[in-house]
Amino acid sequence: MPQEELGYVELEWTCQNCGTRNPGTRKTCMSCGAAMGAKGKFDLPAQQELITDQEKIKQAQSGPDVTCPYCGTRNSANATSCKQCGGDLTDAQARGKTGVLGAYDDAPQPEVKCPNCGTLNPAGALKCSACGASLKRPEPKAEPAPTPQTLAPTRGLSPLLIGGIVALLALCAIGAYFIFGRSSQLVGTVSSTSWQRSIAIMALVPVRDAAWQNQIPSDANVLSCELRPRRFSDTQEPNSTKVCGTPYVVDQGNGTGKVVQDCQYQVSEEYCSFTRMQLSVINTVTARGTDLNPVWPALALQSGQQEGNRAEEYRVVFEASGQQYSYTPQNASDLARFPRGSRWNLTVNGLGGITALQPAQ
Ligand SMILES: [Zn+2]
Ligand SMILES: [Zn+2]
Ligand SMILES: [Zn+2]
Repeated sequence: MPQEELGYVELEWTCQNCGTRNPGTRKTCMSCGAAMGAKGKFDLPAQQELITDQEKIKQAQSGPDVTCPYCGTRNSANATSCKQCGGDLTDAQARGKTGVLGAYDDAPQPEVKCPNCGTLNPAGALKCSACGASLKRPEPKAEPAPTPQTLAPTRGLSPLLIGGIVALLALCAIGAYFIFGRSSQLVGTVSSTSWQRSIAIMALVPVRDAAWQNQIPSDANVLSCELRPRRFSDTQEPNSTKVCGTPYVVDQGNGTGKVVQDCQYQVSEEYCSFTRMQLSVINTVTARGTDLNPVWPALALQSGQQEGNRAEEYRVVFEASGQQYSYTPQNASDLARFPRGSRWNLTVNGLGGITALQPAQ
């Protein structure tokens, strides 16, 4: 992902000898004079702001500081001899960079109160402007505390719950027995029969669809197109918009941090609606009757049309002691067994459904 540079900020470090906070580019403690050792770490400053001084920016870009092998003092990357002890820095080790220090946030931070004299100082101040005392780092803004879990932890299913489930299952079984299991024997008379047969008619018709321009079938008829965001690219392309993430600060190993943000280009492409000829059901012809001799509807296909799926449906209604019971024959020869007025022994379940039937004597 391409990285964009927004500038540099000065970091800070805390003296391991006396606890004083120091500006990142200072190499020795401003209170006790101790050198910042190789183990000292840089932190984000309490108040972040981009460096505008060109000389300081050049310094920030010169690479990580080196540590004097004789006295441990930090020296600039391009120094040849230690400014503290004069030692030769030819073989001096460069400071390691700790990577990303955090998000870049240049919003003004609240002032800090001097613990010594009570004077309010700007958030970025390291020493009190009135009495010169070292200032503590302001507390970071308090995050809302996560609400504690009030629910008791559930360890498996409670015996009470298991009992409830068992009771419910038993009730269901008893209910199912009463509904489906309790069948009764009846003698029914066929009161009516009916059938319905239909045939679908298919033809090639224009069907509307939509797709990205490069995925439109070659035989399609394009109606209209519009630009829509489709993908991300590392480089600028036609119809692209730059989208950047939150800026963050990267330790440069010399008391400054580089402020960068990761950016990409969101590329829009043409999305088009089109029509395309597809074989579809355009009509259905149906024949109906109440006799026992079902027929297929007459099919008069016009040019360009063809026969589609066939469907058939049959129904027999019995009457027994003033009640009606219906039966669905599977095919025409099944239907033919039920002339109107014929008598049948029916087995009927609790829901009124016929589960078995045979001719009555
Ligand atoms: Zn110190
Ligand atoms: Zn030295
Ligand atoms: Zn003070």
